[in-house]
Amino acid sequence: MDFELNDKQKEAVDSAHEFAVNELRPISREYDRSGVFPKDRLIPKATEAGFTIGEIPREYGGRGVDVLTGAMVLEELFWGDAGMATSVVANSLASGPIIIAGTDEQKKKWLSRLVDGQLACFCLTEPGAGSDVAGIKTTARDMGSHYVINGQKCFITNGGIADFCVVFANADPDMGFRGHTAFIVDSSSDGVSMGKKEDKMGIRSSHTAEVIFEKVEVPKENIIGRVGQAFYIVMKTFDRTRPGLAAAGVGIARAAFEEALAYAKERVQFGEPIIKNQAISFMLSEMLMQIDTGRQLYYKASWLADQGKSNSIQASNAKAYCAQMCMDVTTNAVEVLGGYGCTRDYALEKYMRDAKIISIYEGTNEIQRLVLSASLRRVKEWKQY
Ligand SMILES: Cc1cc2nc3c(=O)[nH]c(=O)nc-3n(C[C@H](O)[C@H](O)[C@H](O)COP(=O)(O)OP(=O)(O)OC[C@H]3O[C@@H](n4cnc5c(N)ncnc54)[C@H](O)[C@@H]3O)c2cc1C
Repeated sequence: MDFELNDKQKEAVDSAHEFAVNELRPISREYDRSGVFPKDRLIPKATEAGFTIGEIPREYGGRGVDVLTGAMVLEELFWGDAGMATSVVANSLASGPIIIAGTDEQKKKWLSRLVDGQLACFCLTEPGAGSDVAGIKTTARDMGSHYVINGQKCFITNGGIADFCVVFANADPDMGFRGHTAFIVDSSSDGVSMGKKEDKMGIRSSHTAEVIFEKVEVPKENIIGRVGQAFYIVMKTFDRTRPGLAAAGVGIARAAFEEALAYAKERVQFGEPIIKNQAISFMLSEMLMQIDTGRQLYYKASWLADQGKSNSIQASNAKAYCAQMCMDVTTNAVEVLGGYGCTRDYALEKYMRDAKIISIYEGTNEIQRLVLSASLRRVKEWKQY
């Protein structure tokens, strides 16, 4: 077991950290306040640096980074600004289904658009179907030569600003959720529109909106995989992306910890820096333990995916732990700053608002526990290795 980062990983982490320092941190407060994702300002630079196309195989023009390196990059970008980072890396959620189950022609056509700087969004959630993804009501009617999609998706990262969408719809109502199918829909198609844009408590500088599909004609060649394969595709995609969200939680927590540590050394009360109080230094020590634990969990979940091994348990484990850890660390970091932690003069209150999202998107903390519970029920005898 080697914990040393290899040269490629070091290079990727350094480049993401530099991007976070130079491009994200300086504008973080401004866009947190406005609640706008500065797409035109960031996407060309982020594409050039490879952050929007990291996971796309090299043969299709991407960077071909493994899951572990991709997750390390997310830790740095979320350390910089969790909102903008969410919108910058959202392509990986939409390109996942194409990479996992798309044909060679689909990969050439659609992944190359991302390589050229376009954005894609992942349209699964609906007003009546969040955690219960089997409950989607969007339909795809087979018209012989093409499908017609009707439905409403909500909470879609980059929804309405992405150039194409990966949409999950029921192509065979008689089959129930076994008819659920993934389609690629060009956003310029007639009948695709953006609905309500969300005004969120945290990650405000990411773009989150409804996407409406009204009688949208989609060629049959745009089905990803087979009719009825949506659930498999979604779960396989999450196995690759959930370690990254765990890493995102580590990134936010690390940013909060660093600021709280620096403050605790400077702030003098009762004649000495507050870090001299065991209550404060223990809180900071606990943060470090939690952050390091979270990092090991996402490393392992990512490493398993890169070895082609099953990682569903470890991915849920890492995501659920890091989400809770991120909330705990950012809350305690605000505590270390006392009253100042609650003001907008410091970034801590923002980190705390941003932290909440990690436990919600791509499956809430409860849903990760459902995944874990189902696995525990399935195994006859628990074996650690
Ligand atoms: C900022 C943001 C960005 C997002 N981006 C995307 C995106 O790009 N694409 C996309 O498709 N979706 C996206 N989502 C949607 C996200 O994945 C869902 O919000 C999430 O899956 C939860 O669904 P819900 O909000 O409908 O909550 P619900 O499913 O209604 O859950 C409400 C509460 O009930 C709990 N609960 C539900 N069922 C159970 C159960 N069986 N056992 C125990 N507890 C349960 C949940 O854990 C939660 O606490 C995004 C959401 C946000 C906030």
